[in-house]
Amino acid sequence: MSMFQPEIETMSREDIREHQLEKLKWQVKRVYENVSMYRERMDEAGVKPEDIQTLEDLAKLPFTTKQDLRDYYPYDLLAVPKRDIVRIQASSGTTGKQIVAGYTRNDLEMWANGFARQLTAAGGTNKSIVQVSYGYGLFTGGLGAHQGAEKIGAMVIPTSSGNTERQIRFMCDLGTTHLCCTPSYAMYLGETVREMGVKNQLKLKAGIFGAEPWTEEMRAQIEETLGIKAHDVYGLTEIMGPGVSYECSMQQGMHICEDMFIPEIIDPDTGEVLPDGSFGELVFTTITKEGQPLIRYRTRDLCTLDYTPCKCGRTHVRMKKPAGRTDDMLIIRGVNVFPSQIEEVLLKNSIEVSPNYQILVDRVNNTDTLDINVELSPKFNGNVENEKKSLEAQLRSTLGIGAKVHLLRPKSIVRSEGKAKRVIDNRKLH
Ligand code: ADP
Ligand code: ZN
Repeated sequence: MSMFQPEIETMSREDIREHQLEKLKWQVKRVYENVSMYRERMDEAGVKPEDIQTLEDLAKLPFTTKQDLRDYYPYDLLAVPKRDIVRIQASSGTTGKQIVAGYTRNDLEMWANGFARQLTAAGGTNKSIVQVSYGYGLFTGGLGAHQGAEKIGAMVIPTSSGNTERQIRFMCDLGTTHLCCTPSYAMYLGETVREMGVKNQLKLKAGIFGAEPWTEEMRAQIEETLGIKAHDVYGLTEIMGPGVSYECSMQQGMHICEDMFIPEIIDPDTGEVLPDGSFGELVFTTITKEGQPLIRYRTRDLCTLDYTPCKCGRTHVRMKKPAGRTDDMLIIRGVNVFPSQIEEVLLKNSIEVSPNYQILVDRVNNTDTLDINVELSPKFNGNVENEKKSLEAQLRSTLGIGAKVHLLRPKSIVRSEGKAKRVIDNRKLH
């Protein structure tokens, strides 16, 4: 099993901790000296850079949130002069006002290494042909994958997203071996490959899919329709874009680049650091980032960390696929509902219904309503009314509340070329 930077990817736990402490001290000192927000917050909390003497001392530092990135927009969190910034990326804005992130040349280099580790873990080499079907632009997906693929010397096809049939023609004609896009776009590409009847012309070996939550059921479908191994990749604009963590061939969680980031899991309500193995909110401290370093950044992503050794030989901790974000969670009639729970139920019924769905939440007569639109599979030939009842019963037992299911004709829900927008919550309008 080859690795892009084996000397880093297999460091001993002791060496990782030593490296992290050294970089953490360096980073805390620089943000204290260069970023007024950090200096003020640390003064308020009564912590000085010299107080950071062990990795456990990290917990003394205040958190940083997405709201801080909005409040100090666009340049006030930079720890370097503006002339040292060579790139700006911005979040897709799924959850409110724009935020931006500035990268120095070295930050871009580290990011490329992160994605290069991912590509190599997915069998990528300088002989690979990598098609980047993530959107290019402010969104980190396109350029992030592109830089990583160039880093390993692969041939890159920068198709960006969209123009789905042409994407597939390129895949067949140019012999694409690795596909990078969102999992929802991979589903759409798979569906179109089937319709075009060209699966046997594909040379695809692996795909690298991330930037949005997806389930194991969805992975199984993508692997089947495209005939590949599907790897999960994680990232966020604020921290670095895709490659913050990456999945090896074991497909048992994503290795976090621990030479660049210190992860913690906290209780999202109290902010308390939770013991190893707990489920909670993921927090990152960027220990090598120069441009816009973040100390104890609350991602809002919910997951667990696994420090047990991975069979691939990599030593960096693995994070479980995030189950959703604290801000994705819907509270419907007082019950916490994650869209991923609904998706799991639908995908378990993939013979009858397709994975194209929408979740509609509203409030009628002061009561929350939950409606799910889902397409019937093109092969469905059963009784629609029975199918609807069966799905409703499964949803009730999984979610603990009732949902109304509407079965639609195939192809009636628009396909996503980037991040899918599955939830429409109209309660905010009232
Ligand atoms: P926005 O917050 O505007 O969507 P980003 O495009 O930076 O900004 O999205 C980052 C978020 O996308 C992460 O915080 C996480 O919630 C989600 N995400 C990214 N990769 C994955 C993945 N592999 N699995 C689940 N969620 C992911
Ligand atoms: Zn591994």
